[in-house]
Order: sequence, then C-alpha cells, then structure tokens
Amino acid sequence: MPAKKQLTFEPQSAWDGAAQAERQKWYRFAQEYAWFLDAARTERLATAELKALVGKAGFVPLEKLKKWKPGAGVFAENRGKSLYLALLGKENIENGFNLIASHLDAPRLDLKQRPLYQDPTDGLNMALFRTHYYGGIKKYQWVNLPLGLFGRVVRRDGTMLGLAIGLEKDDPCFAITDLLPHLAKKEQGERKEAEVIRGEELLIICGGIPVADPEAKHRVKLAALEHLQREYGLEEEDLVSAELEAVPLTPVRFVGFDRSFLGGYGQDDKICSYTSTRAILGLGVQKRTALVACVDKEEIGSEGNTGIQSACLVNFIGDLMELSKPGCRERDLRRCLASAQAISADVNAAVEPNFKQVHELSNAAKAGFGLVLTKFTGHGGKREANDASAEFMGTVREILNRAGVPWQAAELGRVDEGGGGTVAKFLARYGMDIVDCGPGLLSMHSPFELVSVADLHATYRGYAAFLAHESK
Ligand code: MN
Ligand code: MN
Repeated sequence: MPAKKQLTFEPQSAWDGAAQAERQKWYRFAQEYAWFLDAARTERLATAELKALVGKAGFVPLEKLKKWKPGAGVFAENRGKSLYLALLGKENIENGFNLIASHLDAPRLDLKQRPLYQDPTDGLNMALFRTHYYGGIKKYQWVNLPLGLFGRVVRRDGTMLGLAIGLEKDDPCFAITDLLPHLAKKEQGERKEAEVIRGEELLIICGGIPVADPEAKHRVKLAALEHLQREYGLEEEDLVSAELEAVPLTPVRFVGFDRSFLGGYGQDDKICSYTSTRAILGLGVQKRTALVACVDKEEIGSEGNTGIQSACLVNFIGDLMELSKPGCRERDLRRCLASAQAISADVNAAVEPNFKQVHELSNAAKAGFGLVLTKFTGHGGKREANDASAEFMGTVREILNRAGVPWQAAELGRVDEGGGGTVAKFLARYGMDIVDCGPGLLSMHSPFELVSVADLHATYRGYAAFLAHESK
C-alpha cells in the first residue's frame, strides 16, 4: 500500500533493510574514520591529517593551478587550523557552488599563558598546569582522564616547537585528579553541577620530583622547567607565545555487543569534517563546483582569523573565481556567494536514554535513524538561528530521498530547554541558502562522544549526494 505509506512520516531505523554487504561497507568506513579520529585530536592535527588525505587523492594547492580545469581538486590551508577544498565543476563558478562547511575544533582545556606553578605554601611538592577551558564543557567530566598535550610554542629566538605528548605508547600523559567520595560529602556534595569542579580547579598534574638543590625555591616547578629546557629548549617565558591544548587520550572504540556505536573524543565536529572530505574525494567530474570548508573556532562562536567569520573562505572562493573568470569584479564574487547552496555540517544531539525529558521526541534526533536535518538552531524564540527556508529544506530533502539516504528532522531539545549555534548563520549573511545537517551524537562535548555507525555512513552518503547535486 504505497499510498498510505506516503501519507504519514515516521523516520525508520537505518539498520532496518541494510543488507550484510551494505553493513560491511559501513564498518570499513567506520574503521577508517576511527583511525583518523584517533590521530586528529586537535584542530591542527586534523588539518594535517585531512591535508595528507586530499594530497594523496591528487588535490593540489590552489596556487599551483594556472587555469580552470573541470575535475581538478584544489585546496588552501589557513594557518594550519583550517582547510578549504574545491572540486572544480564544468560550469562557471559564477553561477554558484555547492558547499559543505564543518569545524575541526573541539572542547578542550587550553593551558594558560603562565601555566606552570607550584604552591609554595602547601609543601606538597607538586607541579601543576593552570588551564582555561575552551568551548562548552561540563567540567566534572574532565577529571580522572589521561590527557595529552598538543600544540605550538614559539621560542624567544622565533623558532617554533610542535609539541605532541601522549599519542605514542611510551609517552607519559597528564591528569586532573578529583576528591575521593569519602571526603567529598560536604565540599563537593553541596555544590551545584556547574560547580562540582570549578574552572580554576581544572589543574593538571605535570610533575612530582623536586630538583636536588634543597635551597632552591619551587623545587618541583624548577624540575619541570629543567625538563622543558632539556627536552625542548624552552624557558618559562616561551609559554606565553604558545597554544597548548590538553585533550583526552581515550582511545576510539566500538561500543555495544553488536558494535553499533563508535565512541571517541572530538567527534563534534571531526565527524562532519571527515565525512565531507571523504565525500568530495569520491566525486567524479561534476557540473557545479563542490566546496568543503573545515574551519576552526566554531566552539567559541566562529570568531578569529581561523573561524568561519574570517575573510579566508571568501578569499579562497575569490581566487577560484579569478581562475574561472580572470578579472572578475567584487560584485561578481558577491553574486557567486549569494547563488551558493550550502550545508552547515554539524552534529545534533541524539536523545539520551537517561534524559529523554529535555527532548520533544517527535522532533528529536534518534541515534541510528540517519542524517539529521536541522532547519533552525538558536535558542528561545529561534533567536540567533539560521532558519532555513521551506524551499531549501525541500531541495535538500529531495536530494537525500533521491539518493536513498536515511534522514530525520529534529531540533536541539525542547522549546526553551537550551540551544546552540553553528556556522550556518554566518554563511547565510552572504545570501546563500544553507541548512544544518549532520549526525546525532550521544554525550556530545564529553571526552567520549558516541555516534551510530549507521548514522556515520548516512552522513557520508548524504554529503556526497549534496555536493554532486545540480541546482535548478
Ligand atoms: Mn559542532
Ligand atoms: Mn560543539
């Protein structure tokens, strides 16, 4: 009875009807994604991993291409923290392009600019790092975990150190300790959730052996500084010109008897960066130019010169236009941007089995039910939302249906429950059509986020179908 089936709309589990051979494909993809996720623990590492991936597939730096060539893949990198990809189409880019934009940064703990300290009054002989958290975190989730330390330090003489501690088996790790339950009754038990661990209590242990000199001040801090000097040629002032990020080292693992989920740190939003990059790599020569942008700083509002609000993506598109139509004017670029169709590729919250009450279930994302179309984000009365048009929702829905990609429609939580934003509203300012579309995650923003393997693959297929679509 197909007519009746079309009358009502109820998203179906993506697992239903997926044959064994199809599922095997999903797991091969999931394994490749897991390797990426394990390695790409920061925005810098993710940029490097994705750049290597597209380089292997034949993408070249944009400036190497001297004239427009349909089917050519090009990329540009912004400060080692963002990557823009394009697969040149047969049609002039002036008529618009298909864009998927996602982000590579994830919540974490940044070291402060004067991070290293030892309390001289407590006699504990411990060296600690002071941190300032980045992005939205529940602070109590970040204690009792092995943490790695990654990033860059610029030394006094201008030379650069790339630091990566924790990925190798023999590497040490770092950790934030927590109060034992026996003694937590009053001190922590009477605090509210956001205060169970306070921002200034996110102190990372980095040393415990004092220097031999009994007369020295801060003997353990001094030992840590001696270590930094010996191993990396650093002095304390160098840490001011540094970006050092402490991130969970929890390994990426399949979850459940049936391995239905994949768990790991930083899936928001490396899952969308990875699937959109893989999607563009899998395309042949297309009519419309396909673009993928993987950017930084979304978790703190898309600010800064590596976030989507910076001019860098527009400059990249301007350079593409110059190849396509030498001597083009700014007005042409603005028209081109306004003719684009885009997906803001970001995750939604899958319903937590323990906290269903924060969702309105018929408009919430369910893990395993496919790609999530999120018409609007924001909070309250859709404040600060990109609210996609009925027309563009129709376009994307048709693309997904035609490609046979399982999808569902959802918003982030019940009305007035909370909310969030993505890069969508910043790109909408150029006049392009854009909608949020990505997988649902469980435990989002925690050190171990979960995705359904079915949703991971649906995301990849959905993005590929979108990048290949020919606008009317
Ligand atoms: Mn995100
Ligand atoms: Mn996020």
